[in-house]
Amino acid sequence: MASGHELYIGPCIHDPPHPLHLPTLDRPLRIHIEGPLVSIQKLLPEAEWPKRGLFGLKFPQPGGIELAKLVHQKLYGECPRDDEIVLGDEYLGWIVDRTVKPWKVLDELDYYGVTFDHLVPPNDTDPEVLMLNIFEMDDDNGEFANKHLLFSVDPADYEGKVLTTPRCCQKKKGSMDRKNMNEMVAERQIKYIPGTYHLKINYLMFPERFPGILYPPIAPPWDTDN
Ligand SMILES: [Zn+2]
Repeated sequence: MASGHELYIGPCIHDPPHPLHLPTLDRPLRIHIEGPLVSIQKLLPEAEWPKRGLFGLKFPQPGGIELAKLVHQKLYGECPRDDEIVLGDEYLGWIVDRTVKPWKVLDELDYYGVTFDHLVPPNDTDPEVLMLNIFEMDDDNGEFANKHLLFSVDPADYEGKVLTTPRCCQKKKGSMDRKNMNEMVAERQIKYIPGTYHLKINYLMFPERFPGILYPPIAPPWDTDN
């Protein structure tokens, strides 16, 4: 596979470092990473991503498995086999056109996240979690990153790298991370979620915001090709 940008996780700014930045290999942990699709494509230039299919996609996206493996390797220095990676959930972020009123959801993916487990027992519904966010700096010269991180960044220092930062080094505390992440995994286990839960609720309330998009998908998710 062609090598892409480096998934770069810098040192923790805290002293001593936060225990999850970086986690030890023997610690059971549920891990989530998310960010703009353009950044993820820099990390995994050959991975395939759906361009369309708001409500009809099979879980998980093949690129999601690759992303989880890359994160695992970065955190622990070990590249897991495919069958060692247990994906719990994924987040699909579709472009929202807010220039029109009411705003409309476009059938085009531009943000992605994936949740996977490391040593979490199958019956543990409330494991400890690690939230990782990707900070894309190319389109705004680092403005968003500098606004949301506890340290300042100069995009020039990240040539060939995709900056990824655990919650402990972000301004946002993420006090709901554990609850949210574990609820989403539980929800994914009990039922098929077309797109994402919030998207579905929005669709049912405001179908006019989803022009040209059919719901529910005509074919069951396991029969679709995309
Ligand atoms: Zn940290």
